[in-house]
Amino acid sequence: MDGVIYHGNKLLDGVKEFVAWLYRENKEFLFLTNNSGKTPKELQEKLLRMGLEIDASHFYTSALATAKFLSDQSPGCSAYVIGEPGLVCALHDVGITISDYKPDYVVVGEVLNYNYETLCCAVGHILNGAKLIGTNSDVTGPSENGIIPACRALISPIEMATGQNAYFVGKPNPLMMRTGLRILGVHSDDAAMIGDRMDTDIIAGIETGLDTVLVLSGVTSREEIKRYPYRPRLILDGVGEIPDLQS
Ligand SMILES: [Mg+2]
Repeated sequence: MDGVIYHGNKLLDGVKEFVAWLYRENKEFLFLTNNSGKTPKELQEKLLRMGLEIDASHFYTSALATAKFLSDQSPGCSAYVIGEPGLVCALHDVGITISDYKPDYVVVGEVLNYNYETLCCAVGHILNGAKLIGTNSDVTGPSENGIIPACRALISPIEMATGQNAYFVGKPNPLMMRTGLRILGVHSDDAAMIGDRMDTDIIAGIETGLDTVLVLSGVTSREEIKRYPYRPRLILDGVGEIPDLQS
């Protein structure tokens, strides 16, 4: 979403036309985000404030993907959570018990009130056998005030203190893409991944067998593309160009 649909609190050019085209052409679609902080309802409200009306069922976050992964792996498990409501609600909704007594997992996402005490608890749980899960492997993310630490940067003190490496669920892990396709009920051959990052969106699309479209409205610039050993099929300035490709 960030760099494709909006930037901070500003809707990008051509997005309204693109979304109108999605509905007009009866496309199945999901808006993916690696940020685990917000619930689908909160994302829906954020877009509504920017003048875009989209049902909450069209949002798929790394928090939802993490919840799905854990409930598949270990139904009814428990987790100690360092994260925002988007992550806590997602885990709760699939029947995972949020607990700080002998949890099966320590799950870390983006978090605003990051503190030393919770890090100590997390390290203790890992040393007692809990498994370490990160919602996404982004080191940094965008914010209104510039670049801020994201999940991977926040989880690394726990990795260092315990010697345990985290498993990350969000993009570019193909897990999130495969689950997304299943939600849409479409085969990878009939789907496209549209993203602004070569290192997460485009690689995830390629590894899942989707058509790939890089938009230059976000992180990756035209000059950076040639540094990567893989290519998107299409490179566009923004999603606003997509409706015109069809006609
Ligand atoms: Mg993005």
